[in-house]
This record gives sequence, C-alpha cells and structure tokens, in this order.
Amino acid sequence: MSISDRKLPDIVISEFMDKDIALEVLNNLDVQYDPTLVDDRIALLKTLAKARAIIVRNRTQVNNELLEHAPNLQVVGRLGVGLDNIDLEACKAHNVVVCPATGANDIAVAEYTITAAIVLLRGAWSATDRMIAGEWPRTNLMGREISGKRLGLIGFGSIARKVAARASALGMDIYAYDPYLAANDAAWSNAYRATLTKLAADCDVISVHVPLTDKTRNLIDIKFIRSMRLGSILINTARGGIVDENAVVEALRENKLGGAALDVFNFEPLDSESGAIFNEVPNLILTPHIAGITKEANQRVSFLTAQNVLKHLC
Ligand code: NAD
Repeated sequence: MSISDRKLPDIVISEFMDKDIALEVLNNLDVQYDPTLVDDRIALLKTLAKARAIIVRNRTQVNNELLEHAPNLQVVGRLGVGLDNIDLEACKAHNVVVCPATGANDIAVAEYTITAAIVLLRGAWSATDRMIAGEWPRTNLMGREISGKRLGLIGFGSIARKVAARASALGMDIYAYDPYLAANDAAWSNAYRATLTKLAADCDVISVHVPLTDKTRNLIDIKFIRSMRLGSILINTARGGIVDENAVVEALRENKLGGAALDVFNFEPLDSESGAIFNEVPNLILTPHIAGITKEANQRVSFLTAQNVLKHLC
C-alpha cells in the first residue's frame, strides 16, 4: 500500500474516514486518501482515471459525470447509509456496485436522538450562562421527564428500531408510521402501528427516520407541524428536505413546538445566509450532520466500508 499522488490510485477516498483502518484493510492496494477532494471536483475527476473503487460519505456526488471520468470503476463504498448523493441507475448502467455501511452508525444516531429528546424536554442546561452571571433560577426551570411520554417514529427501519429499544427502556410508549413495513413484521411487537395523523396528534416526541425520496420530500410540512401536540418535540436526523425548516422555526417562535433538534438541512453545509433563519429561535438544537458520527461509529463504518470495497474488487 502506498499513498501517493505521483501515480494514479486504485482506490480514491474523497471524504474523511478512519485512515489507519482503511490502510490496514486495503493493505496491498494503491490508495489515495484525500478528504479535500470532495470540495475540488476537477481534481477528483482527474484522480479517478484509473480508479477501481471510490469511497465517499454523503457529499461526493456519484453521478454520470463522475462515472464517465472513471472507466475502470467497479465499486462505490459509502461511509454511511443514505444513498441520495449516488445515482443508482447510472451506477447500474456502468456496472458499478454500490455498498452502503448498513447498520454501522445506527447506535450513534439512536443515542443522539435520545439525548436530544432528554435535553429538550428537561431544558435545564439553559441555566449555565445565567448562573455564571450570578442568577439562581431554581423555580422556573421545571423540565419534563421522558418516562411516560409517547415517542412517534416516522419510518421504522434499522435506526428507528434502535431508538425504540432505548426509548422503551426509559419508559416511553412507542408509536411508528411506516406503510412499507408489513403488518405482520415482528418489529411491530415493540410499537403501536399508527397513521401519520394519529402520530402527530398523540406523540410528545416525534423523530424522523426515513430516506429522502420523492415521497418523503417535505413529508413533515407546515400542515403536519401545525397538527402536532402543543409543546411537543421534533427531531430530524434523517435528511434535509424531509422537514420544512421554515415551519419548524415558525412553530418554535410561536411556542407551538416545545423544542426541535435538526442535524440535517436543506442546504449543507449551512452558511451564514441559509443559517440566518435559525437566529435566536428558542429551544432549538442545531448540529452539523453528526448524529451518525462518533469515534466508535467512525471506526465501524470505516472498517465495514473498506471490507465491502475489498470484497467487490475483481
Ligand atoms: P432504513 O432503510 O433501515 O429504514 C428506513 C425506513 O423508512 C424503512 O423501514 C422504510 O420502509 C421507511 N420508509 C420509506 N419511505 C417511507 C415513507 N414515505 N413513509 C414512512 N416510512 C418510510 O434506514 P435507516 O438506516 O434507519 O436510516 C434512516 C435515515 O437516517 C436515512 O435517511 C439515512 O440517510 C439517515 N441517516 C442519517 C445519519 C446522520 O448522521 N444524520 C446517519 C445515518 C443515517
């Protein structure tokens, strides 16, 4: 294995991963690890002239243009699960296999979801600045408990089931909406099978876990958000575009929603222009698409992706 820019590589890694794990697993191949390539499309396309594999996260657009610059490409390793940056039809047409790291970051997203729910329900952490300023706000920081609350999961796949298991252990009742999951699927033994309307009306915390598709784009729109229980919490770790960000802001400003956590956005990365709508919105947690990224998840995702790539190379 050599990491070289003198010679065109076998494997191009265009976004960050655990480099040591990549080098260990792909140890007799010529790998170029360069996470800056995601922001330099021209350099990326040039690097791919001889590549048999590319490893990406969610920002490298794997489309016809890229595939045409990579005539030897056999496999795309995806460091994660969402495939909305990968044109699957185009990959199929070019005989390129796409390998997501299924399941490897589920626990990280599930723990993020539970953390966000507890932080938003409890609200106590907002005291820090006031206490440093000499206040002792003991009587007006009465938060809510997670135990006994209803959790509504939109999408009941791999991540949502891990959220459900943890939430059940904390005493929550679980509702889920997933019309694609058969009514007799064993997963329903842990959740009440709800319609979207019922879920909005009854749940105290709603968390989104569907892929971004034509059907889920703007699924959580202004009408849905207005139909949510007064003071309820909304969490989106799935994909930007599924939740109407303007409607969330409006509902938080009007105290209709009790809190929201957004890890994914319509336009990523958020910049000072697209981020301006969130300025001084109460009870809002924003994070930069990191729900699935912990040290442990990054190691698991990197190991699985490197192994998947190795397995599919002829
Ligand atoms: P999954 O494929 O296991 O589950 C998705 C579920 O959504 C499936 O059960 C499917 O039937 C259901 N679904 C699809 N369309 C639906 C619709 N219109 N209405 C209701 N349900 C629908 O996926 P997963 O691994 O659980 O991932 C869920 C989401 O989380 C994906 O969007 C993925 O990109 C995202 N994700 C984000 C991060 C992060 O860091 N923020 C990390 C990992 C995954």
